[in-house]
Amino acid sequence: MSSREVLRMKSRPTLVPLGTLIGRELRSEKLEKPTIKYGQAALAKKGEDYFLIKADCQRVPGNPSTSFSVFAIFDGHNGISAAIFAKENLLNNVLSAIPQGIDREEWLQALPRALVAGFVKTDIEFQQKGETSGTTVTFVVIDGWTVTVASVGDSRCILDTQVCVVSLLTVDHRLEENEEERERVTASGGEVGRLNIFGGHEVGPLRCWPGGLCLSRSIGDTDVGEFIVPIPHVKQVKLSNAGGRLIIASDGIWDALSSDIAAQSCRGLPAELAAKLVVKEALRSRGLKDDTTCLVVDIIPFDHPVLPPTPRKKQHPLSSLIFGKRSQNSGNKTKNKLSVVGVVEELFEEGSAMLAERLGKNFSLNSNSGLLRCAVCQADQSPIDGLSVNSGPYFSPSSKPWEGPFLCASCRKKKDAMEGKTPSRRTMTA
Ligand SMILES: [Zn+2]
Repeated sequence: MSSREVLRMKSRPTLVPLGTLIGRELRSEKLEKPTIKYGQAALAKKGEDYFLIKADCQRVPGNPSTSFSVFAIFDGHNGISAAIFAKENLLNNVLSAIPQGIDREEWLQALPRALVAGFVKTDIEFQQKGETSGTTVTFVVIDGWTVTVASVGDSRCILDTQVCVVSLLTVDHRLEENEEERERVTASGGEVGRLNIFGGHEVGPLRCWPGGLCLSRSIGDTDVGEFIVPIPHVKQVKLSNAGGRLIIASDGIWDALSSDIAAQSCRGLPAELAAKLVVKEALRSRGLKDDTTCLVVDIIPFDHPVLPPTPRKKQHPLSSLIFGKRSQNSGNKTKNKLSVVGVVEELFEEGSAMLAERLGKNFSLNSNSGLLRCAVCQADQSPIDGLSVNSGPYFSPSSKPWEGPFLCASCRKKKDAMEGKTPSRRTMTA
């Protein structure tokens, strides 16, 4: 039995045996679980887009009734190694941050925090390789009717429901459009400005210096500065049993198409064809300017073979508030008022770039060894080697009670660097 299980047993003596839970889930999910159908299409310009489709993951290995699916897009920049590294390691890093032996509801509740830990761990591991590329990540976990999306950068995930309401499940971390992120980057020691050429003329989008990146969050980017953080915006929603369609795509699509147009261009068509049509539509309107990758995922009621074609209704008046242009995504705390229209239940949304706010107050102890487990990398260390996420520089475990989760020394160092508390490696400012 793991230390987490022991802790749980102590704190909650009335646990339902796992076998009972599985049996209960088997019976109810057979009736209630949606069918997932998906399609993918891509056109390469630079060859830096990668994607991940894993439709057959299991919360409890060997138990098909605990299945969930993962879909992700990684849009690399300055090379492909960060995109490939994230594609190969992120899912495992997220799953390893979820406690063992918990039921489905607890698992879904633990997922947003595990996504944060997994993104940060992947970033630390990649940076340790000493390579310089970076990548956006839009990472989608579908379990039953519950969709959890974690994202850094500007690849988007939109949700098209059966009542023609399109909503954005991600936030664009582009300096040009995200004032909150500009303020954070500046406060952490970065400079935000445009390229300065031809005797003082400013050109192009807002970038941060050093490095010149247009994004404020990514995985990788070792040479850019630690204020470009890997802490994802996370949103979790529960669809009604009418289902819905997700369109996950890199900015090659979204620079050409609004969320509305992308959704409309493929409504009523099976996912595989839909993905191809969205890419074709983007190409038609803008030409091939960038890598363009699109995943379409249909979450379909069990008794329907495909999502029924939806007649084009008049736009819901709320929809203009919910999605639309990039410029309307002003900040991390922007709430999409999905629940208002009664289609989708909002379970969770958080976009703070402060690690302490994202990891919660709990920490776990390995009861066999007396070691504390790092909330980010899950390594067990003695309390002397790490610090609470909230502690000051002279924190002493014996003189002050623990506050917040435990971080090992290297994850603690990463946290301080992201918050501008330690000087980041400066490079040429172009
Ligand atoms: Zn750690």
